[in-house]
Amino acid sequence: MPALPSLNPPIRTLLGPGPSDIHPRVLAAMARPTVGHLDPYYLQVMDKLQGGLRELFRTSNRMTFAVSGTGSAGMEATVVNLIEPGDSMVIGVNGVFGGRMTDVAARAGAKVTKVERPWGEVFTPEELRNAVDAAKPKVVGIVMAETSTGAYQPIEEIAKIVHEAGALLLVDAVTSLGGVPVEVDRWGIDAIYSGTQKCLSCPPGLAPVSFNQRAMDVIMARKTKVQSWYLDVTMLANYWGSDRVYHHTAPINMSYGLYEAVSIILEEGLDACFARHALNHRALKAGLAAIGIMYAAQEGHQLPMLNAVHIPPGIDEVKVRSDLLNRFGIEIGAGLGAFKGKVWRIGLMGYGARPANVYLVLSALEQLLAEQGFKFTHGASVAAAADVYAS
Ligand SMILES: *Cc1c(COP(=O)(O)O)cnc(C)c1O
Repeated sequence: MPALPSLNPPIRTLLGPGPSDIHPRVLAAMARPTVGHLDPYYLQVMDKLQGGLRELFRTSNRMTFAVSGTGSAGMEATVVNLIEPGDSMVIGVNGVFGGRMTDVAARAGAKVTKVERPWGEVFTPEELRNAVDAAKPKVVGIVMAETSTGAYQPIEEIAKIVHEAGALLLVDAVTSLGGVPVEVDRWGIDAIYSGTQKCLSCPPGLAPVSFNQRAMDVIMARKTKVQSWYLDVTMLANYWGSDRVYHHTAPINMSYGLYEAVSIILEEGLDACFARHALNHRALKAGLAAIGIMYAAQEGHQLPMLNAVHIPPGIDEVKVRSDLLNRFGIEIGAGLGAFKGKVWRIGLMGYGARPANVYLVLSALEQLLAEQGFKFTHGASVAAAADVYAS
């Protein structure tokens, strides 16, 4: 008899805000033999992985690597390296993750100025210009894909404003990387972080990050030590750089998974990958609109990979989500914070962004909504999605 019940996770279709469905090739890669973190083979894997991450971020930044930890560790790594106690930081808050960044920055000793927007909306460049002119920050932090609301924040104009003010731009690309274009060099993003379990379709556990030379110069000129030993980029640079000095034991098999995940995206081609996300989003959106379900994020600024939609009045939303899970094996996300009980979050991320999943979630939702007495034309959502794919 085993000491614990045998491990037998249910098969789910993960259509929530992450983790997303894992590509089978990624799971297979993770089952390859573990080597040492200084093994010549692993060092080659690291080099190639860094090269692949540079392509994903569209950057030539030397300091591009994967932090051991989830997306939040990427947030923490970028913030604590750039911020010294007393530094000023402006952060855009229009959902959960901007809010989390203010907490991380304040713990690192930053004087934080929040620029707020209602949930589901995005920031205009002018709003940020006003805040930056008033606070004269060292760093401006912004979330590109606010997973709690489905809002898609344009970055390019904001980058110009931040640089004109002599500040550094820090971007949260946890959900955007691999789903929409992220142009680190062209837009001039100084520091950026992502996570493996959203559009990269890899289990949670690593946080790709990149720092440009401007950011590295600021880090090298710090007067105080980075508050976190584990996330100190200057020490991590000695491991990921040519010196290969042991810092902590890298999660070897997670790196295999990310390596394969990045490779799969590069095989498809970044532009084809973004087009696929956009197409499946359009099909889902048309399907939902056909049965009267509308998006929560501002029109024109809706993310393809995270579809936050209003729950129709009179619907028991908890029951819909539990029925989706228990009867159909589909996970979608609940609303968080200001959106709790008000929206569902349907993720079409990475490997999960494909027509089979759009049809699956639309048809299952139709059945459950009909059972709860919601009035709509049966079959309309699937037909509308099919029209999008046919056109
Ligand atoms: C998921 C997410 C995070 C946090 O990542 P974890 O992997 O949960 O630590 C941060 N920012 C955004 C925009 C996210 O979607």
